Amino acid sequence: AKLDGRSTFRFFEPAMDARMQARRRLELDMRQALARREFLLHYQPQLSLADDRLVGCEALIRWRHPERGLVSPLDFIPLAEEIGLIVPIGEWVIRQACRDAASWPRPLSVAVNVSPAQFKSDRLVETIVSALSLAGLPAARLEVEITEGVLLQENEKTLHTLHRLRDLGVRVSMDDFGTGYSSLSYLRAFPFDKIKIDRSFVTDICAQTNPGAKADGEAIIRAIAGLGRSLGMTTVAEGVETEEQLHRIRAEGCTDVQGYLISKPLPADDLLRLLGASATP
Ligand code: C2E
Ligand code: CA
Ligand code: CA
Ligand code: CA
Repeated sequence: AKLDGRSTFRFFEPAMDARMQARRRLELDMRQALARREFLLHYQPQLSLADDRLVGCEALIRWRHPERGLVSPLDFIPLAEEIGLIVPIGEWVIRQACRDAASWPRPLSVAVNVSPAQFKSDRLVETIVSALSLAGLPAARLEVEITEGVLLQENEKTLHTLHRLRDLGVRVSMDDFGTGYSSLSYLRAFPFDKIKIDRSFVTDICAQTNPGAKADGEAIIRAIAGLGRSLGMTTVAEGVETEEQLHRIRAEGCTDVQGYLISKPLPADDLLRLLGASATP
């Protein structure tokens, strides 16, 4: 075989091409998905440990793709962020979540994930104000979950937006706490209502029963729970899957839990049934 530079280059080209094409395809499909009503929200309940009652739900987006079936947000949110589509998609999430929450038989809070790009777009506060008023949902029942990414370019505008939301009565949570490099400094930058302790720390507890786990998960959870108590913030442990993890988390003083043990994220109808059933917490 001839091994000139060209043939080597051509060897890699088809694979690269296929990836680019798949990405373009996804992008084109995603641009039409809103109009075609292919997005939907699942809701994952959060339990308060003080009284073992459901206190809220996190809205998690899914995409019912005509050929691929139900697509995980991990497979399209990053691209949506990259190409700016996250702004209209995020607006749909906020409106839909407020509408759904207003129809629940109990006044649970609803949490939505908000991406950095939505904070840059200028429309976030207006979107939230109009979604609340259209749905007739009190601001205090809406929660906005942000990751460090939002505060990374910690500019005046982002902080101003967060304070405007707080002034409206919307609650603000720090998501995936502990995974970034400067989680602590962000707690000082803004008075969050809630800290969501990243699932990785929960996975790392119970070192005896889970030999692969790092032993420090429990100590970190204890420290974050203490921090939350001192700062007057709710602390939610994410990704709780076992009774043993729940037991430890309770002992370490977290206020709330969320995870498959309590419930997987549910379609809106299933959540309604759960909330409507009188025998549930
Ligand atoms: P996240 O905000 O950290 O959401 C929690 C994720 O953990 C969800 O994955 C949830 O289904 C999953 N989870 C909950 N409990 C457990 C558990 O016990 N075990 C395990 N293994 N996983 C659990 P999901 O729904 O696939 O969402 C992934 C990420 O996609 C979210 O992470 C969030 O960053 C993003 N996302 C989801 N919906 C939206 C949205 O509407 N807007 C934006 N901007 N991002 C979203
Ligand atoms: Ca979240
Ligand atoms: Ca999280
Ligand atoms: Ca996450």
